[in-house]
Amino acid sequence: MSRKKLLILPGDGIGPEVMVEVRRVIDWLDRYRSIGFDLAEGLVGGAAIDAHGTPLTDETMADALAADAVLLGAVGGPKWDDLPFEQKPERGLLRLRKDMALFANLRPAVVFDALADASSLKLDVVKGLDIMIVRELTGGVYFGEPRGIETLPDGGRRGVNTQVYTTDEIRRIARVAFELAEKRSRRVCSVDKANVMESGVLWREEVQRVHDEEFPGIALGHMYADNCAMQLIREPGQFDVIVTDNLFGDMLSDEAAMLTGSLGMLPSASLGGIDENGRRAALYEPVHGSAPDIAGKDLANPLAAVLSFAMCLRYSLDLAEEAGFIETAVEVVLDGGLRTTDIMQKGKARVSTTVMGETLTRELDKLTG
Ligand code: NAD
Repeated sequence: MSRKKLLILPGDGIGPEVMVEVRRVIDWLDRYRSIGFDLAEGLVGGAAIDAHGTPLTDETMADALAADAVLLGAVGGPKWDDLPFEQKPERGLLRLRKDMALFANLRPAVVFDALADASSLKLDVVKGLDIMIVRELTGGVYFGEPRGIETLPDGGRRGVNTQVYTTDEIRRIARVAFELAEKRSRRVCSVDKANVMESGVLWREEVQRVHDEEFPGIALGHMYADNCAMQLIREPGQFDVIVTDNLFGDMLSDEAAMLTGSLGMLPSASLGGIDENGRRAALYEPVHGSAPDIAGKDLANPLAAVLSFAMCLRYSLDLAEEAGFIETAVEVVLDGGLRTTDIMQKGKARVSTTVMGETLTRELDKLTG
């Protein structure tokens, strides 16, 4: 098997702490499953600002482009809050997303049985929930031109943003959603506002066209974004893959995340196009930030970062079986009652970041015999 080239960018705050636990899992795969990884590590965010005066150097950017996948911890923190916008730690992450042309953001919302009562919804509504939200990441109203704030002749002001999508942008994100659905329950719900927006009409038509031409075996439904927001609360189990634009995806993925009850458990992936060697640019990162309030205290939940690595195995490295082992090990550890502070429940055992990671690899040992 060819060696897998990974770039690890731990970043700031709890980023380095959770990435130590990801490395523990990578080492385990290396040793016990004989999967060879070529690991490189780099700086991003505040750590890169401190060392090099920039949130991402050109060298690190080049390493990211050459890797099979990038694993990121988190960036940012109060130390760098007063820097001008262009020099902030977050610019490092934005540059990675831009230069790697990552247009598809994948946010699973999975409710683990052991944590189902942490959700604000009733247990029977969220039990067994497993949704994948696919959000378009580089187009739409966040980037559309014209944009800006102008002063009107009467002295009032006018703010403008423009929702724009082209057929190519819609078609490529639709394909990502259909391809994912093929590996899941073969259902896609496309979300738009075709009732009030022309860009939504185009979105609906193009998603339908990709479906009819390329993925006729997938069940495709369409839903208005406002209805989807309601349905996610009312009956989330009706969804498998949801595909939507940048703005609606931003909101719906956060809404779906809250169904699961904990920020420390949420992984994500951002995918780009496929190059001439068949390789897809990809960045995997937990949804949470750098959590400066608990950084350096061995308190962070490493599971979101570990589950992001499981996504990397499944979507970038074609190692679905190994991804499954990791996800099962997470379930077993939670069923066994271990909890970091963020997911602590009455009667359970509070453990550190390190103990959570160590226990996880022990469970991996048991699972794989
Ligand atoms: P945050 O996600 O860092 O923290 C929110 C709360 O959740 C905090 O109380 C934190 O302790 C807790 N938390 C988060 N992750 C946890 C984990 N793995 N285990 C246990 N508890 C966890 O969000 P914030 O406080 O709004 O932002 C802090 C910094 O992170 C800011 O500088 C922000 O810009 C940055 N940030 C970065 C990213 C990223 O790198 N992708 C995302 C969001 C925020």
